[in-house]
Amino acid sequence: LAERLQSTIKKITGKGKVSEQDVKEMAREVRLALLEADVNYKVVKDLIKRIRERAVGQEVMESLTPGQQVIKVVKEELTELMGGEQSKIAVSDRPPTVIMMVGLQGAGKTTTSGKLANLLRKKHNRSPLLVACDIYRPAAIKQLETLGKQLDMPVFSLGTDTNPVEIAAKALEKAKADHHDYVIIDTAGRLHVDGDLMAELTEMKEKVQPDEIFLVVDAMTGQDAVNVAESFNEQLDITGVILTKLDGDTRGGAALSIKAVTDKPIKFAGMGEKLDQLEAFHPERMASRILGMGDVLSLIEKAQETVNEKQAKELEEKMRTMSFTFDDFLEQMDQVKKMGPLDELISMLPGANKMKGLKNIQVDEKQLSHVEAIIQSMTKQERQDPSIINSSRKKRIAKGSGTTVSQVNRLLKQFNEMKKMMKQMTQVQKGKKKGKGMK
Ligand code: GDP
Ligand code: MG
Repeated sequence: LAERLQSTIKKITGKGKVSEQDVKEMAREVRLALLEADVNYKVVKDLIKRIRERAVGQEVMESLTPGQQVIKVVKEELTELMGGEQSKIAVSDRPPTVIMMVGLQGAGKTTTSGKLANLLRKKHNRSPLLVACDIYRPAAIKQLETLGKQLDMPVFSLGTDTNPVEIAAKALEKAKADHHDYVIIDTAGRLHVDGDLMAELTEMKEKVQPDEIFLVVDAMTGQDAVNVAESFNEQLDITGVILTKLDGDTRGGAALSIKAVTDKPIKFAGMGEKLDQLEAFHPERMASRILGMGDVLSLIEKAQETVNEKQAKELEEKMRTMSFTFDDFLEQMDQVKKMGPLDELISMLPGANKMKGLKNIQVDEKQLSHVEAIIQSMTKQERQDPSIINSSRKKRIAKGSGTTVSQVNRLLKQFNEMKKMMKQMTQVQKGKKKGKGMK
């Protein structure tokens, strides 16, 4: 999606004035791009209609060029399409709050149950009970129990011989007795939507009266995910959608259509297999990401979770003035470790999918300790100005850090790439700030 839109956007941004013909052309391109991205046909039709009306109509702001205006309209409409920010989770006034996780096999229910429990405990200080109701595959119970162990969180299971509805009901009693304030029920899935499954889930819903029914869908399945969401919603009246594997979704088709088709919000997004890779779903950022502007906001937010604000400001200043040194790098290492995988952070940078040399920057986390050792073996002067590091210095550094000259070389190269990227990033940020000020 991004590819196609970007070239259209490039064409139109350059223009000082946009004619009705331009808007038509833009609308046509957006339409094609969306269809190519596997966005629901009806959704596209409505969207294009609104974009054309708004873009051609008298909604032009003086501070924006008409070209920018059209793009602003497209972005706003994409955001609108995905709904408002909706990452809140219900809280029952008679605890425990009950959450049913439903969806097809392989969508990510079990993993996401674990992630959600982790998030509820970490961010909201809750004490969830995980419940294993997928009795059809013995491995499924084991999988949830393993997640429970990893998280050091209790998992309620009655094996494979008890009816899932019964298990869910018993789990509720157990949660009350043990003072758990959330119950997360991991249910069975099928390969396709089927009557038996729906009957079981409906029965369970009646029995446990859940406060939330989260449908878990795989973003990579595109339009199929939308169809699945439609049928689950018809039969179960779900309360929200969790979109998984968004890390592997390059088209955004599911994200764009689900809200429009089901009128249920996408609440969270799974961004990887790890248990802390569940994020609130931000429609505006998703729209930006789709438009290829890069998800700078998420990146900054992620950084701010671990770096305090003052440090972040200093870092930003250093990035802007390019005075970032190996000392700063070292200081950031701890923060970086806390932030999560580097390649994940890097992939959020604007245009990162297109950036050359990205492969060189993907730092193997196991090597972080080597990196640390290398930097520690540098002199103060070398850390401030790496350009003075000649081959004899490299040899000394390698020896001092117990690494090799080629490892030292690699780090120097990575450091330079990183500085380049920081420059690109701050430039985009500046662009963004400008845009905001003009609104
Ligand atoms: P279930 O059958 O619905 O319970 O699905 P699982 O929870 O067993 O997940 C199926 C596979 O998808 C597992 O290999 C998960 O690690 C993987 N998975 C789940 N969520 C994500 C995600 O957000 N990103 C990625 N990359 N993989 C995911
Ligand atoms: Mg499962």
